[in-house]
Amino acid sequence: MNTLHVSKGYDLPLTGRPGTDLDVLPRPSRVALLPEHIPFIKPKLLVKEGDAISCGTPLFHDKRHPRVRFLSPGGGIIDAIEFGPRRVIRRVVIRLDETEAAESFQRFEEGQLRQTDRSALVEALLDGGLWPLLHALPFRDYPDPETQPPAIIVSLGDDEPFQADPAVYLAGRQDLFGYGMQVLARLAPQVFVSAPAGAGDALQAVSPWITHTVSGPYPALDPGVFLYRTRRSPADNRTWFVRGQDLLLMAGLLRDGRYPTERIVAIGGPATQRRRHAITRMGAPLKSMAETTAEASVRRVVGGVLRGFTGDADGYLGFHETALNLLPAGDQREFLAFVRPGTRKPSFSRTFLSALNRHRLPMDCNLHGELRPCVACNACMQVCPVEIMPQLTFKSLLADDIEEALAHGLLDCVECGLCSYVCPAKIELCDHFTRAKRRYHQEQTAA
Ligand code: SF4
Ligand code: SF4
Repeated sequence: MNTLHVSKGYDLPLTGRPGTDLDVLPRPSRVALLPEHIPFIKPKLLVKEGDAISCGTPLFHDKRHPRVRFLSPGGGIIDAIEFGPRRVIRRVVIRLDETEAAESFQRFEEGQLRQTDRSALVEALLDGGLWPLLHALPFRDYPDPETQPPAIIVSLGDDEPFQADPAVYLAGRQDLFGYGMQVLARLAPQVFVSAPAGAGDALQAVSPWITHTVSGPYPALDPGVFLYRTRRSPADNRTWFVRGQDLLLMAGLLRDGRYPTERIVAIGGPATQRRRHAITRMGAPLKSMAETTAEASVRRVVGGVLRGFTGDADGYLGFHETALNLLPAGDQREFLAFVRPGTRKPSFSRTFLSALNRHRLPMDCNLHGELRPCVACNACMQVCPVEIMPQLTFKSLLADDIEEALAHGLLDCVECGLCSYVCPAKIELCDHFTRAKRRYHQEQTAA
């Protein structure tokens, strides 16, 4: 087993880590799929309101690759199809019925996987709607089904505050994980499994498959950082990755021939009453998962605190997300804020007295300032795990010089959000980089 230490990054001193206790949540009456939060896709609807559907019925496909389709996470009736500005499909809501009919898919016996044709597994993942759980670096779009990667990285654990703990979602599922590893071995010539160093007994059951243990501050466990540290040739830049819990879903589909809908979700953040893990459904309603503390105003972040999206009170879990974090919105004005020492105000810089406080703090969503020009403090450079100089890359993008931004390493950016978090000028650097990468990817694909 190899070890990897990532020195650059930053661990947010945030309270609210979910406990490892696992609740089973009641079956919801509705579930939903949220096309607007699946990056890159151009969805084309295949159903309309009022249609009766089964669990596993295709709801929409991606116009770029019509074979890539997204299936219903439940059986019942299409209750609503909601559109946003410019007719963007926001969500497809399914009212579940009692019986929940389910579609059947091709099954593969474990003993036959070694002899199974690679293309048969690709077709089965496309048919079963789980192909988009694979991601191709550097853009993180799902991979073109016609291509083969140099390697696949399986990422066990995500150190973004706060994501599902692999010790929780892998408990008792080592056989399913082993099945998934056999599938990946048919899809790529090499498979790497990265796990947090120091997980010890918690990941003992899957330790025979772990090839690398990784230590260091967030985002050390990101597959993009792993690739940045281990790649040997330019061809490696096309490596794919899959998250540990998603691999279990893919394995469940191929082994059982049923669309798997169970998700283990981390429920955390300082404004959550009971921080824990919970078994629920893919696309479950957020209000079925967490109770807020007495905070006046709370933001529901679906996914991690730095990379997730803001969900409504009546929102749903996304296709890719396995976490819900509740944070105080922090939208009240602070009386005489400029004379306060800031003992409980977390900050990367040493501006506040909180720099002397080694405890975790109940962070909120207040920016504590407004957008200003870059002050050349280099904070973004100090935290960037892939050694980009974010302030210079940002200036290249402002000048519309994509070639220069690429030369700075734009494509290595793992979209971790740290540079935006630490920037005292409140520049949303990560958003700029993510948008530029996506635009470049779209131009490359269209060319
Ligand atoms: S430039 Fe990219 S990788 Fe570097 S800190 Fe910013 S978001 Fe993270
Ligand atoms: S952290 Fe913000 S202000 Fe500081 S150098 Fe980077 S972009 Fe400029």
